[in-house]
Amino acid sequence: MRRRTDDDGGVSRRSYLAGGAAALSLPLSGCLGSIGGGNGDTAGDGSLGEDPDRLVLRNGTVVSVDPSVGVLERGDVYVEDGEIADVGETIEAADATEIDVEGSVVAPGFVNSHLHTWQAGVRGVAGNWTFSEYLDTMLGEVSSHYEPEDAYLGNLFGAVEQLNAGTTTILDWFHIANSPEHSDRAVDGLADAGIRAVFAHGPPGDDGARWWEASAAPHPEDIERLHEERFPAADDRLTLAMGIRGPDYATDEVVEEDITRAREMGIPISLHAGSLGPGAVYKLEELGLLGDDLNFVHGNRFEDAEFDLIGDTGGSISTTPEVEMQMGMGMPAVGKAMDAGAIPTVGVDIVSNVSGDMFTQTRSAVQVQRGLDNRPTVEAGEQISEVSIDAHRALQLATIDGARALGLDDRIGSITPGKRADLVVIDGEDINTSPVNDPVETVVFQAGVGNVDTVLADGTVVKRDGDLLNETIDEERERFVESGRRVLRESGLAD
Ligand SMILES: [Zn+2]
Repeated sequence: MRRRTDDDGGVSRRSYLAGGAAALSLPLSGCLGSIGGGNGDTAGDGSLGEDPDRLVLRNGTVVSVDPSVGVLERGDVYVEDGEIADVGETIEAADATEIDVEGSVVAPGFVNSHLHTWQAGVRGVAGNWTFSEYLDTMLGEVSSHYEPEDAYLGNLFGAVEQLNAGTTTILDWFHIANSPEHSDRAVDGLADAGIRAVFAHGPPGDDGARWWEASAAPHPEDIERLHEERFPAADDRLTLAMGIRGPDYATDEVVEEDITRAREMGIPISLHAGSLGPGAVYKLEELGLLGDDLNFVHGNRFEDAEFDLIGDTGGSISTTPEVEMQMGMGMPAVGKAMDAGAIPTVGVDIVSNVSGDMFTQTRSAVQVQRGLDNRPTVEAGEQISEVSIDAHRALQLATIDGARALGLDDRIGSITPGKRADLVVIDGEDINTSPVNDPVETVVFQAGVGNVDTVLADGTVVKRDGDLLNETIDEERERFVESGRRVLRESGLAD
C-alpha cells in the first residue's frame, strides 16, 4: 500500500531541512506576539474586504501544490486583477499593496467538495444522530421549516465560516429548494459571503418522503431559470451544478431524466450514494450514465468494482469522514477511491453535526485511511514498513483534487501563475505551529482554524490579521441566530 507522491514538486523533509530555511529560526517574540490571532472577529472595514488591483504577499513559505513551482522556503506571490501573476523568490512590484507574510505558510485555499451550507443556523444539534435519525429529522422535519431568509442567512454565515477557516471554494449541496425564492436567497448568501462556490441545486426540503424515498418526482424545473438567469457565465465566482437524488433515492426514470437535463445544461452533477448499501454505480452503468461530470458523495459501501467504474469514467468521490463514521455509513473511502483512480476529495458535509474546517476533515480522512491500511499488518502481529498517504498527497486531496472534481482545476487548486488568487496564509509563529520544520506537515497535521491569518478569495482579501473583513455578517448576526432558533423551535428540537 503506497500512496505517497514523488512527482508533485514538493520538497522532501530532508531537502527542506538541508535548505537552511528561515522558518527554522523563528524569533520567540514573534511567536508569543501572535498568540490569540485568528479568532474570527470582524474588523468591519469594508463589506468584502480589500480588493487592490495589485497585491504581493512577501517573504512567506509558499506551498504551491504545483509540481512546476514546488515549495519555496521564502517567496512572494504577486496578484494582479485577482489573478496569480507570478510566484518567485523576489518579485519586483513597486506599486503593489504589500502584505508581509514572513513566518507564515502560504497555501492554495482549501476546496471543500461537499457542504450543506444552509445548516449553519442549526449548528451542533446532530452530533449524536444516526444516519436514519438525520434523514428523518433533518430532511423529514427541519428542512421544511426553512424560509427563504433562513436559507440566505445559513448560506451567508456558513460560507463565511469556510473562508474564516481558509476554505475558499465549496460545493454547496442545497436540498431546501422549497421555492425559487429559497434558491435565489441561498445564492445571494454565497454572493454576499465572497466565497467561490458551486451551487448544487437540489430538491425541495418540504417533503422528505416525496423527494428521498424511491422518488418518482423529477428534479424541479426551476434549475433551468437559475441556469439562465443567475449563472450566465461558467467562469464566474459562483457556478451551478445539479444535486440529484440518484439511484439510492430515486427511480431509474428520474435518475435518467435528471442526469440528461444536467448534461443538456453542461453543468456538473453531484449525488449521495453508497452510504446505505452498494449498487448505485452498477445501476448508472446499466443506464449508460457514468461520466466524468459525476461527483459521488460518501460511497462507503460501494463494491470495489464500483470504485473501478468511477475511476475508469473519470468521476470523483467526496469523503466526509467525521459524518460517515459517526452516522454508520461505513468507513471513509478515500483510499479505495485513490486505488481505483477516481478523484479523491474531502468535504465537511454538515455543521449541524461536525466541525466545518478542512484541517479537521482532511486530517481525519488521512489518519483513518492510514489506520485501515495498517490494520492487516497490525493484526498479523507485525510492524508496518511505511505510512500510506504522505502529507503532500493529503494536501492535494484538500486542494487540487477538489478543484479537479468540480471542474475548476484550470482556475484554482494550486498557486500557479494564471490561476485565480484563492490563497490561505497560515501563521507559522503561533504556539502550535512554531517552528515550521516542514511547511506541508504544518498545514496538514499541525494547523487549525485559529492559525488562519489571511485569506484571499478570487483576489479579494476577505480575512486579514485574523479578522474577517465582511460587514454583512455584523449586520446580520442577530437575525442569523434567531433564524436558527426559530427553525429548531418549529421542528420540536428547542423550547
Ligand atoms: Zn451530504
